[in-house]
Amino acid sequence: MLSIIELPRTISKLKYEEAELFKRFFDVKRTTGRLVIPDEMKPWVKKTFGNIHRVENKEIIKVFNKLTFETAVFNELRAKRPIEAKSYESDNDVKEALNKSVGGPFCTPLRMTPSDTFGRIKGKYCVSASNVAKYDGLHGLIIFNKHNPLDFNEKELRDYFKSAMNWFKKAYKNNKKAAYPFLLWNCLWRSAASIIHGHFQLVIGEGAHYAEAEYYNKIRKEYYKKYAQDYFSDLYYAHEIIGLGMRRKGLRIFTSIVPRKDKEVTLIYDKFKFDNSFVKAVYKVTRSLVKDFGVMSFNLGIILPPLNKDEEWKGFPIIARIVDRGNLSNKTTDIGGMELYARTNIIGTDPYKVFEKIKSYF
Ligand SMILES: [Zn+2]
Repeated sequence: MLSIIELPRTISKLKYEEAELFKRFFDVKRTTGRLVIPDEMKPWVKKTFGNIHRVENKEIIKVFNKLTFETAVFNELRAKRPIEAKSYESDNDVKEALNKSVGGPFCTPLRMTPSDTFGRIKGKYCVSASNVAKYDGLHGLIIFNKHNPLDFNEKELRDYFKSAMNWFKKAYKNNKKAAYPFLLWNCLWRSAASIIHGHFQLVIGEGAHYAEAEYYNKIRKEYYKKYAQDYFSDLYYAHEIIGLGMRRKGLRIFTSIVPRKDKEVTLIYDKFKFDNSFVKAVYKVTRSLVKDFGVMSFNLGIILPPLNKDEEWKGFPIIARIVDRGNLSNKTTDIGGMELYARTNIIGTDPYKVFEKIKSYF
């Protein structure tokens, strides 16, 4: 299997046109972090990392997206670590938190959560609500019937997405300026979810999309002007040629080499709807992350093209990204000064490992 640490070598083997395309997007740098370990420390280093030489001379790979300025740093020691697939079910603290929170407001949403002025969307396995702590004029929730957010199947997910789309359409009908939808699923507390009970959040921007979407749309147009090609298709292709992308039923799925955080998976879909192919793919990815990688807390963010057929957004796809937020028992957060103020993401998992596993589901 390829590794992110070998990325410079992988790129060097690309055909000329492929290498040129890759270089439009990415700049990859390799550096070595050197240090000297005192004798007293050696037993500990050996026990913890297995190899003293490797700790003393550590390969570091920095990837920079020249168009978006997204940056990720991978180091050899972290990337080579085996992935521990610890299930949340074997974590007593998590199980206790899940059990203790049963009976909260989302367990009886019709009585304990507000409705939107246009009423509720009722799905088979979920119901919508209006968010009490809104961050936009229209900010709704899809509250799952099931309390435990990590316990979901494909049929339920399909219903959540269908209900979310119905909510977006109804919200837009209610306010025609609100045409720029974003769906987020913050799953459990490390992802910033304040309520322990499965739910999506739905927001719609008025008059403009959310910053990330606006930014991508700008980059996409500039890219088209320069190369007469689609930014997202080429971004995907830049990952496919280095062994990190696959196409399935109109979907392009890849593990980014400039992820926001660990185990990030991106899905790009041109059909502009949450149909069976889309939901199935999201289900496979999330299932694999939970089951194979022991992911307990994640953020899923989905940018949708506008609902008002805005010409400025013609051809903009659905972009779904999902990222691991780390172990629920861990007291240090995964985002620090580097991410916040150096715009540089420190990544602990090799995207090749994640891609290999996810691919086996498709
Ligand atoms: Zn509940």
